[in-house]
Amino acid sequence: DDQNLFSALRAALPEDLSGIAVETDQGATYSWRDLDRATAMIANLLQSLELPEGARIAVQVEKSVEALMLYLATLRAGYVFLPLNTAYQSAEIEYFIANAEPAVVVCSPKNFGWVSKIAFQAGTRNVFTLGEDRSGTLLDRAVHHGDVHTPAVRGRDDLAAILYTSGTTGRSKGAMLTHGNLLSNAQVLKDYWGWQPGDVLIHALPIFHVHGLFVALHGALINGSPMLWLNKFDPQRVIAWMPRATVFMGVPTLYTRMLAEPALTREAARHMRLFISGSAPLLIETFNAWRERTGHTILERYGMSETVMLTSNPYRPEEGRRGGTVGFPLPGVGLRVAGDDGRELPAGEIGGIQVRGPNVFKGYWRMPEKTAEEFTADGWFKTGDVGKVDERGYVTIVGRSKDLIISGGYNVYPAEIEGYINEMPGVAESALVGVPHPDFGEVGVAVVVPKPGARLDGEAIVAALKAQLANFKIPKRCFVVDDLPRNTMGKVQKNLLRDQHKALFG
Ligand code: ATP
Ligand code: MG
Repeated sequence: DDQNLFSALRAALPEDLSGIAVETDQGATYSWRDLDRATAMIANLLQSLELPEGARIAVQVEKSVEALMLYLATLRAGYVFLPLNTAYQSAEIEYFIANAEPAVVVCSPKNFGWVSKIAFQAGTRNVFTLGEDRSGTLLDRAVHHGDVHTPAVRGRDDLAAILYTSGTTGRSKGAMLTHGNLLSNAQVLKDYWGWQPGDVLIHALPIFHVHGLFVALHGALINGSPMLWLNKFDPQRVIAWMPRATVFMGVPTLYTRMLAEPALTREAARHMRLFISGSAPLLIETFNAWRERTGHTILERYGMSETVMLTSNPYRPEEGRRGGTVGFPLPGVGLRVAGDDGRELPAGEIGGIQVRGPNVFKGYWRMPEKTAEEFTADGWFKTGDVGKVDERGYVTIVGRSKDLIISGGYNVYPAEIEGYINEMPGVAESALVGVPHPDFGEVGVAVVVPKPGARLDGEAIVAALKAQLANFKIPKRCFVVDDLPRNTMGKVQKNLLRDQHKALFG
């Protein structure tokens, strides 16, 4: 039977299509009918190109409601959506286009010159442009197509999207996600997070990534909920919108940026039902500060490009949203923690997180060996995250296996040491990375960012840790810096820090 994600989302729209579906910060509004007709026109345009089955539609454009329509139209027409981070420049785009061999490339009008050259060289014949302001050839062409379109029939295992991972630990991999992966996850989250009539989502995340594209967008659409739409995150605008909205999703940095605004008050947030955080660890300090200031407890959840959402803190506050944890495995998701020998570990012990479920992807695009490596013999996906499950079932992530430090044979979990450093006065945040060492194999090096106006001394931090922790956990050096290197999703790029300090003891 038909499992096309678009058809499921379409079926969830309100009966009256004349209501507002999206309102932008520029004051533009789009009705549900506008969404339906525009996606039909773009789907008809795509189908007129006579693309092969499974064709990839690669898209690197600034965020806009029209870009959202292009995503939905791609699903509608039965092709595979392949969004690309807007920060990527020519070397990166060359890699992605050569790797994905898209049949269609859509880029920003200002980038047409160099992107089209790369695309044509890779054999892509169709290159369109789409600007933030509805400019470009994609819409120019689409208006000549009919606004009625019967969605393609798709099975559960048919590809819907290829999402390149954020590249935090190395080169990005293309995660192949099916209609069944995305639809099952959207349905589970609708219940788990208590989506209800009257909900309004503030959409302020980029739409080239799992968080903004799938979790936020599908969440609103499958509940028939309107969105207040920001092409670029603006903390003051989000706060000003809160009295008209009920749900907000953000990465941790968005929460810290809003906390810096005096306009964020209990009164401003009174109408909101739910604040969700994910994509990177939420500092306990941010979690507490948000609760103090707004009276709301942020719900933290955990997921990845390969699996969409895996765990979530409970929705009902009385069940306990616990800061520093990512909650429970979602219904239908299996989660276990395995030791180095692959055997499952008991509650409380730290090891590699493995998962399975209808949300787990089909594999890495054109990387069969890598795909095989990342699945266990009995079919569980190795997430690459290290964590534990406590007696009550709460999952805590302590780092990534690639960031794990093995010092003199002992495992050092960066998140534990970072937690101690972050609690010291004057510390805003920190990162611990492992670097080569002639005696110990590897040792930890701490990189610490002071709070505005605070002065920190690296040696004093190391001395303070010595009073609290076992010797093998103590960083051998501590550097005070202005900022940690982050990628566009707000994730700390520890590989860059490791590189920077790799010769310290060599
Ligand atoms: P790459 O796989 O290319 O190195 P990436 O893993 O950062 O990049 P994504 O798929 O965007 O790419 O991110 C998924 C990862 O984000 C997870 O594996 C996990 O490490 C991290 N993550 C997501 N949510 C949380 C959370 N709530 N707390 C801690 N980490 C999180
Ligand atoms: Mg990853």
